[in-house]
Amino acid sequence: MEDKAVLLREIAAEARACADWTGRPRLSARVAAAMEAVPRERFVPPGEMSLAYINAPLPIGHGQTISQPFIVAIMTELLDLTAESSVLEIGTGSGYQAAVLAEIARDIYSIEVIPELAAQAHENLQRCGYERVHLRVGDGHAGWAEHAPYDAIIVTAAAPVIPTALVDQLKAGGRMVIPIGLPGAGQMLTVVEKSASGEIRTKGVLPVAFVPMVHAPAPSGRPTIH
Ligand code: SAH
Repeated sequence: MEDKAVLLREIAAEARACADWTGRPRLSARVAAAMEAVPRERFVPPGEMSLAYINAPLPIGHGQTISQPFIVAIMTELLDLTAESSVLEIGTGSGYQAAVLAEIARDIYSIEVIPELAAQAHENLQRCGYERVHLRVGDGHAGWAEHAPYDAIIVTAAAPVIPTALVDQLKAGGRMVIPIGLPGAGQMLTVVEKSASGEIRTKGVLPVAFVPMVHAPAPSGRPTIH
């Protein structure tokens, strides 16, 4: 698809332009291949399909958005995934980011707080054959303890501080990428590294604008979707 080739060039150009911030002037071959492989048009609402390969976030209902492709690419890059990685995502949304992660890593666990979005993401992922993405409805602040620790954690909604449970569920030597800040007050995409000895180092890498990570009133008790 021609639009996709244009988008991939735009992402590469934006990565170069943001390199002073991110320290990543180029996408690795595996992230570039993942961005190429995932059909983004299958993760946007039918009415938005013609815009799927524009480098912009798009509405997916319930006041939420599928992230801008460049942001998906650079967040994936910053996780330094391998084919063996086990990854936790907070904020499934459309399932698109989870699909990109699944192109590279071994197991993807993703939590979404809005049940209708989780159901739609499940359908999107199934249709595209992403079997190694496991979804669950709930409040991501608590993480997903059963499958912890994770090599990488990606949070696709902004939090004022790094949720403690997520730090606990990160493997020694693991990396987390999370937008930190209050909505409207400026957020900083932040890389959290846990050293082999369990020491935490954080580094702000890029100003970003994400929807806020909300607090669910109570554990929903809903079962895992698949
Ligand atoms: N990664 C998504 C984009 C996510 S937008 C994609 O690729 O399409 C952020 C998502 O985080 C929204 O769907 C929102 O409902 C969800 N969210 C917000 N607070 C949350 C929480 N506490 N736990 C889990 N999901 C949350």
